[in-house]
Amino acid sequence: MKFINLTRRTEIGANSYYLETAGHRLVLDCGMHPKFEGEEALPNMNAIAGRQLDAIIISHSHQDHLGTLPVLMRRQPKARVFMTEPTAEIGNVLLHNSVNVMTRQREESGTTMYPLFTHRETDRASERWQSCALRQTYTLSGERVPADSSDTTFEFFEAGHVLGSTGVLLRSEDRTIFYTGDVNFDDQTIAQAAVFPETNVDILIMECTRGDTPIPPTLSRASEEKRFMQAIESAFARGGCVLVPVFALGKTQEVLAMLYKLRRDKILDFPIYIGGLSAKISEIYDRRAQMGRRQWPRLQLLDDLRPYVLNADSIHEAQTRPGRVYALSSGMMTPKTLSNIFSQRVIDQPRHSIFFVGYADPESPAGILRNALPNEEVTIAPDRTPQRVHCHIEQFQFSAHASRESLIAFAERLAPKKILLVHGDPPAVEWMRARLVSDLPKSEVSVPTPGVEFEL
Ligand SMILES: [Zn+2]
Ligand SMILES: [Zn+2]
Repeated sequence: MKFINLTRRTEIGANSYYLETAGHRLVLDCGMHPKFEGEEALPNMNAIAGRQLDAIIISHSHQDHLGTLPVLMRRQPKARVFMTEPTAEIGNVLLHNSVNVMTRQREESGTTMYPLFTHRETDRASERWQSCALRQTYTLSGERVPADSSDTTFEFFEAGHVLGSTGVLLRSEDRTIFYTGDVNFDDQTIAQAAVFPETNVDILIMECTRGDTPIPPTLSRASEEKRFMQAIESAFARGGCVLVPVFALGKTQEVLAMLYKLRRDKILDFPIYIGGLSAKISEIYDRRAQMGRRQWPRLQLLDDLRPYVLNADSIHEAQTRPGRVYALSSGMMTPKTLSNIFSQRVIDQPRHSIFFVGYADPESPAGILRNALPNEEVTIAPDRTPQRVHCHIEQFQFSAHASRESLIAFAERLAPKKILLVHGDPPAVEWMRARLVSDLPKSEVSVPTPGVEFEL
């Protein structure tokens, strides 16, 4: 059994992992790097050049897991592609949006490689995807078989991260490999906690997003929701608006559900603004509300909250109206996105607020702003002059990712023979590695060096 980490660095970038077993070759996930452009935004596909893949398995539809799938499919025309049905629906919307973003980037910065794929190629690619049910065993040619089949098989487990997200259990050569994808072991406001295997995993490939974030023992989702609500009230009392940078997939819908609770309990009622992409994904959440496990299955985000929708054109005229919440993507406030453009009208205004509710790369504009001191100068887009931070900034823990404590507890329950730590910045994977080495002396714990093939 061979494994290659196809990310370019130890980081949360363009996630992709190669596995070779029993004469089969497959890739788990095929993301796009949120910070880099061109070739650097792709996983390191050169590391598997000349090898023909049988299958590509996608854990969920976030950009860092599915964002360059059409490119890999072009290079691997024979590979079968598997994911859950909601991941396919959302993935299609996100990839088409990504074509638009890349086309704009080409016009603005002349990146000649862009777009990395076209609308037409995205349509063709998604026609080749096979939707798979949760908790069913499939062979790499997509046939459903009993769990004890002697073939190399895979099975999707619910990951509790965003709609459609999964962990992947592979069975091959009498061994089991479990890839967590992005996971949450706790309930969120809409998403319910992961349901993962609790025994019989020989090799665990585990995400480490929050490996360097300790959580205060008193923290709970309910107490954090309450603090969020009080912070909105105080922000409105200061006569300002609230910008909440969110990912279009997952965090937008979680924030909308929290705001719904505020309205339902008649605590506060106010207009909400979201972006066009977030609205499209919320529509999928609404359509699928009663299918599968989730909280508030009757809640229809778009009908019940009636958010105003801003897009790439109207954002330039959008004013910072007091008493309103602007839940805009992207979550990392990448230059040219709605949250980045809107924030330029918020940052130097003491009456306005920015609330951070999830993960942001420390070097992204959201990461920079989150860590900025009052009155400090920040530059959040390359074409902007620096601005002084006068707005009110607050941080909340509504992560869609498992806490490091729950990841460690999961690994300890499984006690696998080998643990590979992925999807984390260096301090995060290092904390997890050190802790697991001391807690599980019988397990071999490693951080797979990017681009290097090794025997599992
Ligand atoms: Zn994710
Ligand atoms: Zn991820």
